[in-house]
Order: sequence, then C-alpha cells, then structure tokens
Amino acid sequence: MRESSDISEIRTAVRQLCAQYGEDYWLELDRTRGYPTEFVDELTRSGFLTVLIPEAYGGAGLGVYEASIIMEEVCRSGAHAGACHAQMYVMGSVLRHGSEVQKQQYLPKIAAGELRLQSFGVTEPTTGTDTTSLKTTARRDGDDYVINGQKVWISRIQHSDLMVLLARTTPKDQVKKKTDGLSAFLIHVGEAEGRGLEIRPIESMINHHSCELFFDDLRVPKDSLLGTEGAGFKVILDGMNAERILIAAECVGDGRYFIDKASHYAKERIVFDRPIGQNQGVQFPIARSYAEVEAAWLMVEKAARMFDAGEPCGAEANMAKMLASEASWRAGDVCMQTHGGFAFAKEYHIERKFRETRLYQIAPISTNLILSFIGEHVLGMPRSF
Ligand SMILES: Cc1cc2nc3c(=O)[nH]c(=O)nc-3n(C[C@H](O)[C@H](O)[C@H](O)COP(=O)(O)OP(=O)(O)OC[C@H]3O[C@@H](n4cnc5c(N)ncnc54)[C@H](O)[C@@H]3O)c2cc1C
Repeated sequence: MRESSDISEIRTAVRQLCAQYGEDYWLELDRTRGYPTEFVDELTRSGFLTVLIPEAYGGAGLGVYEASIIMEEVCRSGAHAGACHAQMYVMGSVLRHGSEVQKQQYLPKIAAGELRLQSFGVTEPTTGTDTTSLKTTARRDGDDYVINGQKVWISRIQHSDLMVLLARTTPKDQVKKKTDGLSAFLIHVGEAEGRGLEIRPIESMINHHSCELFFDDLRVPKDSLLGTEGAGFKVILDGMNAERILIAAECVGDGRYFIDKASHYAKERIVFDRPIGQNQGVQFPIARSYAEVEAAWLMVEKAARMFDAGEPCGAEANMAKMLASEASWRAGDVCMQTHGGFAFAKEYHIERKFRETRLYQIAPISTNLILSFIGEHVLGMPRSF
C-alpha cells in the first residue's frame, strides 16, 4: 500500500536527521555507555519527539501512527531509540490524567524541549510483573506525600527532569480490587535526588540507561498526584497501548535494518566463487524473516489506526508488540548467521542491534504476559493469576 505524501515526508525528514548520526556514533555510545544528547536534542528541536502533544499545548497534534513511522525510521537507521522513545509517550499520563494546571505547566515546556519527561517508575525488584503487589508506598502527611520503597530498571531517569511514579497509597488488603489503591505521581527528579531519592545505575547488556531507585522518606507536594488518589493503575494502563505500539514499530525498524544488512551482504559476500545469497540455505531464512517483519508491521498499523480513532486496541497493541519483537529478534538471528564470523565484529554493528532488539520480548511487558492477556481477555480462557 502506498503511503500518503505526509507520511513520506516524515519518513524522509527523520531519515535525513538520523543519517547525520551514523552507526559509529551509536557504537561509541555503546562502548562508553554514553547518552546520545545531541541526537535527542536534535530530534526534539525538530519536533519529532513531541508529535503526540496536541497543538493547543505546543505539539504537532499528530497520532500514534505518525509517531510509529518516526520510531520505525529511527531504529531502521541503526540507532537505538531506547534513549528517547519514552519522551513521546510518558507525557500521555499528564495529557490524559493531569489537571488543566498540570497540563499548562508541563506540556508546553515538554513540547518546547525545555523539560524532559521520559522516565516512568513501575517495576520493583521483589514483585516484577505482578504490578499490583508493588511495595513502594506513598503516605499522605499534611500537604505532602511521603514515599518509601524501591524500583528497578527505571530507564533514562538520569536524563529526565520528571518521572511518573506508581506507588501504593492504600494497602492491597484494604481495597476491593487489587488494581485500586495505587496512585501515580509526577516527580521532579532534580529536586528529589539526594533528598530521599537515591539513583544507582545498573550495568547491563545494552546501553539503556536503567537504574535502581531507593526512596527513603521522599517528600513530594500533594499536587504531584496525577489523576485521583487510588486510581493510578489506570493512569499507567492508559499509557501502555501507545507504548506497546511504538515499541512494536521500533522492532519493525530493527527488523528492516537486519534484513537490509543481511540481503545486502548475501549479495556481496563471495564464498565458493559465488554470492552466499545464491544458496537457498542462506536466501530463504532472509526471505522468511522479511515476510514476518512485514506481517508484524500490518498489526502495528492496525493497532495505531485504532488507537488514533479512539477505539479500544489493547489486544492489537499487545499482538503488535509480541509479533514485532519476535520478528525483529529472528531477523537479527538471520542477519548474524548470514554474516558468519564477521557478525561478531563490533564494527559491523549487528551484534549491538542484536542485543538491543532482544529487550523487547521482555520489556515493557514479556511475551508470556501478552499471551496470557490474549488467552484470557480475548479468547475467554480461564485466568491463571
Ligand atoms: C533494559 C530494561 C529497561 C527497563 N525499563 C523500565 C522502565 O523504564 N520502567 C519500568 O518500570 N520498568 C522497566 N523495565 C522493567 C521491565 O518492564 C520488566 O523487566 C518486565 O516487565 C518483566 O518483569 P521482571 O523483570 O520483573 O520479570 P518477572 O516478573 O520476574 O518475570 C520473569 C519471567 O517469568 C515470566 N512470568 C512471570 N509470571 C508469569 C506467569 N504468571 N505466567 C507466565 N510467565 C510468567 C515472565 O514472562 C518473565 O519471562 C526495564 C527492563 C529492562 C531489562
């Protein structure tokens, strides 16, 4: 299907911007665990990271479909979008659940690139995927909330001015539904660090800037609350579909990157006096992978269109994320195999992308949890937990 001229223009502009940050730029950051400040600044200045903010608050007012095209192009260029993708969607919590005062206070500044809201703190070390059992608490004390607890894998917090945090305000055994009693807070990271918030970076397999957080009597003003007290699970849940669709688009970008690289190399590399791609044992896995990535893109498109039309799209967003993350991983594996030993040389960049795309079968939600959502909520099979 031919894309509209608007979409082609977005693609071209993002492609041109990314072309200035070649793969050596990303390799060096991976080596040094650096943050792509210049790249993120330029993407922000060009308005690409704020397309989802409505025009009334200074953004472009575009949809998740357009945002998906941007993220797909970023990843297809060889970049690692993990450094910046959350700036696109975390602000959705403020947009959908913030008061008008909070929206006026934050969204125009985020749109202008003056404030970074690209960190969200949900996961905890002892409870993991079982979000409603999380142990971080926020206790009301006069005009403040006092936060205690621990989070893990909280990405980009050292490169973010604000973080959306999920904490329990009513103990789980005192609420009707386990999803009740959780509240979302908008935390000023700079003000909190050293005054009850300790941030410790985690050394990890990819350059994702993830940290452990320790809250020890952190006081935040009561107007840090996003939405109403006790209804924070919905604040987080509402942002999840956009996040899943955008991550799925990134995976498609990764998948297309791997297939471009693999098919190019298969045409060029001569062994036994002929291009390796002439052997169907090399050619077919690349062709199969291409078909899988393109099929995943159809689900990304469907989910994004439904999201933008305001239709419920939980199943489609989840399926898009699952299919795209699996397709990109398989494409990465095929790309590695096609390159033989050279796949392991860092200068070929494939091993970095291979590591990076692996994340998306685990975060922001693991494949099993998606299958359980489909099994129970779409197909009506018995609940397992
Ligand atoms: C690089 C990175 C960046 C991240 N960034 C963030 C971030 O910015 N903010 C944030 O809040 N979190 C973040 N996360 C956390 C991420 O969302 C979680 O790692 C993920 O949701 C899985 O949770 P877990 O690691 O605790 O796994 P667990 O919940 O311990 O699960 C481990 C495995 O068991 C499986 N499993 C568990 N229960 C069941 C069940 N009932 N049935 C079947 N299978 C089950 C899971 O599918 C998984 O494969 C990040 C993680 C990583 C690795």
